[in-house]
Amino acid sequence: MERVMELERGSTRIYNCPMCQIDTPHTVVATRGTTHAAVCSNCSNGSLVDGQTLQSYQAQWEEELRDILESISGADDE
Ligand SMILES: [Zn+2]
Repeated sequence: MERVMELERGSTRIYNCPMCQIDTPHTVVATRGTTHAAVCSNCSNGSLVDGQTLQSYQAQWEEELRDILESISGADDE
Protein backbone atom coordinates (compact mmCIF):
# COMPACT_ATOMS: atom_id res chain seq x y z
CA MET A 1 0.00 0.00 0.00
CA GLU A 2 1.23 3.39 -0.93
CA ARG A 3 1.79 5.65 1.98
CA VAL A 4 2.52 9.30 1.46
CA MET A 5 3.53 11.33 4.43
CA GLU A 6 1.76 14.62 4.73
CA LEU A 7 3.97 17.60 5.10
CA GLU A 8 2.71 20.68 6.80
CA ARG A 9 3.64 24.04 5.47
CA GLY A 10 6.64 25.33 7.34
CA SER A 11 8.06 21.91 8.11
CA THR A 12 11.63 21.27 7.11
CA ARG A 13 13.18 18.39 5.22
CA ILE A 14 16.73 17.72 4.13
CA TYR A 15 17.02 17.76 0.36
CA ASN A 16 19.78 18.13 -2.17
CA CYS A 17 19.40 21.64 -3.49
CA PRO A 18 19.83 21.83 -7.28
CA MET A 19 21.35 25.28 -6.90
CA CYS A 20 23.71 24.69 -3.98
CA GLN A 21 24.45 21.07 -4.95
CA ILE A 22 24.53 20.23 -1.26
CA ASP A 23 22.12 18.76 1.27
CA THR A 24 20.33 21.61 2.94
CA PRO A 25 17.17 21.99 5.01
CA HIS A 26 14.26 22.91 2.76
CA THR A 27 11.16 24.55 4.13
CA VAL A 28 7.89 23.33 2.66
CA VAL A 29 5.96 26.36 1.49
CA ALA A 30 3.19 24.75 -0.54
CA THR A 31 1.73 21.35 -1.30
CA ARG A 32 -0.25 20.23 -4.32
CA GLY A 33 -1.24 16.59 -4.26
CA THR A 34 1.96 14.68 -3.56
CA THR A 35 4.20 17.43 -4.88
CA HIS A 36 5.76 19.91 -2.50
CA ALA A 37 7.28 23.26 -3.15
CA ALA A 38 10.28 23.58 -0.88
CA VAL A 39 12.61 26.51 -0.42
CA CYS A 40 16.29 26.03 0.28
CA SER A 41 17.38 27.61 3.55
CA ASN A 42 20.78 28.38 2.08
CA CYS A 43 20.06 30.06 -1.26
CA SER A 44 16.27 30.56 -1.06
CA ASN A 45 15.83 28.73 -4.34
CA GLY A 46 12.49 26.98 -4.66
CA SER A 47 12.28 23.36 -5.76
CA LEU A 48 9.38 21.13 -6.67
CA VAL A 49 9.84 17.81 -4.96
CA ASP A 50 7.74 14.69 -4.99
CA GLY A 51 6.61 13.77 -1.47
CA GLN A 52 8.04 10.27 -1.65
CA THR A 53 11.37 11.53 -2.93
CA LEU A 54 11.52 13.96 -0.06
CA GLN A 55 10.57 11.25 2.40
CA SER A 56 13.12 8.72 1.18
CA TYR A 57 15.80 11.39 1.03
CA GLN A 58 15.07 12.40 4.61
CA ALA A 59 15.13 8.76 5.74
CA GLN A 60 18.43 8.16 3.98
CA TRP A 61 19.89 11.28 5.51
CA GLU A 62 18.72 10.41 9.02
CA GLU A 63 20.27 6.99 8.68
CA GLU A 64 23.56 8.53 7.67
CA LEU A 65 23.35 10.99 10.55
CA ARG A 66 22.66 8.16 12.99
CA ASP A 67 25.71 6.30 11.73
CA ILE A 68 27.84 9.37 12.24
CA LEU A 69 26.48 10.02 15.71
CA GLU A 70 26.95 6.38 16.68
CA SER A 71 30.52 6.38 15.48
CA ILE A 72 31.19 9.51 17.53
CA SER A 73 29.64 8.17 20.73
CA GLY A 74 31.24 4.79 20.15
CA ALA A 75 34.68 6.30 19.80
CA ASP A 76 34.13 8.40 22.90
CA ASP A 77 32.96 5.44 24.96
CA GLU A 78 36.07 3.36 25.48
ZN1 LIG B 1 20.15 26.07 -2.22
